[in-house]
Amino acid sequence: MKIDIVTIFPDFFRGPLDFGITRRAREAGLVEISIHDLRAFAHDRHRTVDDRPFGGGEGMVLKPEPIFECLETFGLASRDERMSRSVKQSVVLLSAQGRRLDQALAGELAALDRIVLICGRYEGVDERVSDHLADREISIGDYVLSGGEIGAAVIVDTVTRLIPGAVGNEASTRQESFTAHPELDSGDAPSSTCVSGGLLDYPHYTRPADFRGFAVPEVLVSGNHDEIRRWRRRTALEKTVRNRPDLIESISLTKEDKKLLAQITGQDFEKRN
Ligand code: SAH
Repeated sequence: MKIDIVTIFPDFFRGPLDFGITRRAREAGLVEISIHDLRAFAHDRHRTVDDRPFGGGEGMVLKPEPIFECLETFGLASRDERMSRSVKQSVVLLSAQGRRLDQALAGELAALDRIVLICGRYEGVDERVSDHLADREISIGDYVLSGGEIGAAVIVDTVTRLIPGAVGNEASTRQESFTAHPELDSGDAPSSTCVSGGLLDYPHYTRPADFRGFAVPEVLVSGNHDEIRRWRRRTALEKTVRNRPDLIESISLTKEDKKLLAQITGQDFEKRN
């Protein structure tokens, strides 16, 4: 996969993409990341990339010309081809007004072979970039950042770890929080892990078994894989009910889940799908 990041702060990316899985994936050639300085595509002496907003109002707006000219050097497929998904390329504008990034969207992006990330700044980016150049807008959450760079780093991180080979043990990316692939649960028996199926992850513990008097849950050292799997499912459900009840609405529940949820909440889940 090739990822291009367009930014007025190229140095920002020294660091965030140089550690752990992202670094290893780059070194292994699984992902190639290029950072492009938007100012290199400005034409005046001051390398101006922003201007005042039409209609008045606060702040400055990133101009369209440098962004269009920068992307025109990339040799991308047309916007129509990208929009119709007939090519595995996407030009993403980072924007608080975009579709909110989640694990499903990260999975979609990980299936592409070229992603361009345009980082906004100031009050935002001239809307013609969204209307005629980018094929999607993505937000990393319901809050306003001062620039798209952190969002771009978030997308690179979450997408890179989904590229086959990037994470040592591939099964681990399927078992994590939010990942909705119940069909992948039929792995080698005996299995004590359970895929999240769209829930939050279950709690993890390592040695020592007793840390300052805080013992790890006994079931985890019991060696009973079936009990461990059930415990993990129950604690994942508990945590999801507590921190992200909205996720419960959107997943399909097994018989066992419904029983566990009834115990946890005291409510009846029998009629839920
Ligand atoms: N006026 C805009 C905010 C501009 S913030 C608004 O109210 O929506 C400047 C830039 O930061 C944006 O152009 C975008 O690239 C980036 N940005 C801000 N919040 C973001 C978010 N939640 N997700 C992704 N990018 C964001």
